[in-house]
Amino acid sequence: MYVNNVIEKIKAKHPGQKEFQQAVEEVLTSLAPAIQKDKKYQENAILERLVVPDRQIHFRVTWVDDSGCVQVNQGYRIEFNSAIGPYKGGLRFHPSVNESIIKFLGFEQIFKNSLTTLAMGGGKGGSDFDPKGKSDGEVMRFCQAFMNELYRHIGAHTDVPAGDIGVGGREIGYMFGQYRKLTNRFDGVLTGKGLSWGGSLVRPEATGYGCVYFAEEMLKERGESLSGKVCTISGSGNVAIYTAEKLYHLGAKPVSVSDSKGMIYDEAGIDVALLKELKEIKRVSLEEYAKAKPSAKYTKASDYKPGTNGVWSIPCFAAFPSATENELGLDDAKTLLQNGCKCVAEGANMPSTLQAMDLFLKAKICYGPAKAANAGGVAVSGLEMAQNASMRSWDFEMVDKTLHNIMESIFANASETAKEFGDPTNLVLGANIAGFRKVANAMIDQGVL
Ligand code: NDP
Repeated sequence: MYVNNVIEKIKAKHPGQKEFQQAVEEVLTSLAPAIQKDKKYQENAILERLVVPDRQIHFRVTWVDDSGCVQVNQGYRIEFNSAIGPYKGGLRFHPSVNESIIKFLGFEQIFKNSLTTLAMGGGKGGSDFDPKGKSDGEVMRFCQAFMNELYRHIGAHTDVPAGDIGVGGREIGYMFGQYRKLTNRFDGVLTGKGLSWGGSLVRPEATGYGCVYFAEEMLKERGESLSGKVCTISGSGNVAIYTAEKLYHLGAKPVSVSDSKGMIYDEAGIDVALLKELKEIKRVSLEEYAKAKPSAKYTKASDYKPGTNGVWSIPCFAAFPSATENELGLDDAKTLLQNGCKCVAEGANMPSTLQAMDLFLKAKICYGPAKAANAGGVAVSGLEMAQNASMRSWDFEMVDKTLHNIMESIFANASETAKEFGDPTNLVLGANIAGFRKVANAMIDQGVL
């Protein structure tokens, strides 16, 4: 009753914010048993407090393109909850960005960061700027203009943004440079930095590697593994690339990737070196992959029919949705299960619709929800902050081992919590409740704020 009331109030208050409503519904519904078990959460109005950000910053970003025209974009930073540490979460540059998307991402981030075992609160930001097709000079001027406003809201102990869709090492570099110029300070105020100026080894790999480590943990509990198995991946950005790389390390074979224009099915196995060259260096469409590799079949996104011929129609043992929210619907979920898929580990944020998620939970396959399965990225961002604070750099093995340990402990925490509430395979419930309790208890300890 209490949970439903809060969900309904959010829907009435923000009728146009579909993605935010979806995230709130997913999280709050699964928290119901914990709320019922311990009355203190309702007595302290924890849910009503959690669904309203501490602070929402919406600003204009004005910059000049290569032809001398003035361009205007929307900028956002939503500082959601800092009960257990400074706000932490990525910046997304994509034309689809709006308040609803940033709020859903920021809300999810609260629980994800809590699960990492590190001291990080939840936040998210971004812009409707599209880096695709822009020159380096245009991207630099946009990033500088974005930081001209953002710099006054962030700080190593206040709010530490990172990358997300459309924001990689290049963009973080331009934003960090502008922050340093404006403040005359060299602070660990962004993560995902270059290695020679405060970055951490394994940060580019962290989300993809972490997601595969999480899948292995889920499978291990059932006496299975990824070794020798065919896997499908969507997306072809940071998360997708390093998911494919780690799958090979563990003896699995990734056979698909996709971008906004189309998908590649390469039965011989995705060529990771080629993918990196096309996506990290040349920044071109996946059509080029098919031209370079005869074993690959390219299908245009405009020809997809859900559940019939997209990435999720390829028979696989494990699926790694790593592109964007709501990319895997009910028909896709049905096809995956019919084809014998035993494991879905979410690299992207909220890639499965609520209906798809319900189907996976009912089928009791290994289903790793985003906030647990993709927490490796923010976890290594936390390790980057720790290295910055101590002015030391850890070697690759040390960061990778710590990442692996963190993913193991996220799985153990989510799995034990799911068992505590009598639904042992439901890691949605387990991850949400485990992430929630730490934040909610901290909020109660700190008084009514
Ligand atoms: P990138 O920008 O590196 O790559 C995104 C990929 O997804 C690209 O292949 C892109 O295709 C595709 N894509 C993006 N939007 C759409 C869309 N609307 N329809 C179809 N395809 C789309 O981003 P990341 O790899 O960093 O992020 C991917 C997902 O992982 C996001 O959900 C992000 O929030 C999540 N995530 C990322 C983390 C990180 O550390 N980077 C951490 C945790 C979660 P195209 O290039 O054609 O646009």
